[in-house]
Amino acid sequence: MQNHTALILVDVQPDFMPGGALACHQGDAIVPGIDHLLRRRLFKQNVATQDWHPRGHISFASMHAGMAPFQQISLHGYPQTLWPNHCVQGTPGAALHPDIDWSLVDLILRKGNDPDVDSYSGFRENHGPEGARPSTGLAGWLRERGVSEVYIAGLARDVCVLWTAQDALALGFRTHVLWDLTRPVTPDSDANTRAALEAAGIGIVEAASQLA
Ligand SMILES: [Zn+2]
Repeated sequence: MQNHTALILVDVQPDFMPGGALACHQGDAIVPGIDHLLRRRLFKQNVATQDWHPRGHISFASMHAGMAPFQQISLHGYPQTLWPNHCVQGTPGAALHPDIDWSLVDLILRKGNDPDVDSYSGFRENHGPEGARPSTGLAGWLRERGVSEVYIAGLARDVCVLWTAQDALALGFRTHVLWDLTRPVTPDSDANTRAALEAAGIGIVEAASQLA
């Protein structure tokens, strides 16, 4: 792997795993592979994102009278899926998964801290009240370290991984998704996710067999 590459591990947190508040289908199956990949030290930079919501975050269905998780509302003029309460700051479900050696990661970037804005992508928050998507600073951090190509894994394949990959590409990075090191919230979404990635020109890579 070249020294202009970065690995971005999206939201590998217990709340997104079986038994967690917002479980991805077989979300825990990616944990050993991610730990193994980090230990191979293939990438120049390694980044983890951590979904990190204050209590009463606007994305929680419990904050909207009469609404249930997975229903949609309009928020700041854009569709917003409402979620079960998840990844509340300081709770065990919001921790980085304990079976991965996070000391091998260079940057841990917390997102979703703004009580009024959701944040799927590691690069930009969702649309805020001003209509813009505020930057997290990740693109600048990567660029200043010479990174031009990113490989993305983590959870959820159909939400935060997809948005992170789309933003990475839009912000000028050669972008790949490590498909076998991701899992979806909604398994039925896989065909659409794969089609969206392929149509955008985002590489789909199997980490177990294709990472030299
Ligand atoms: Zn969240």
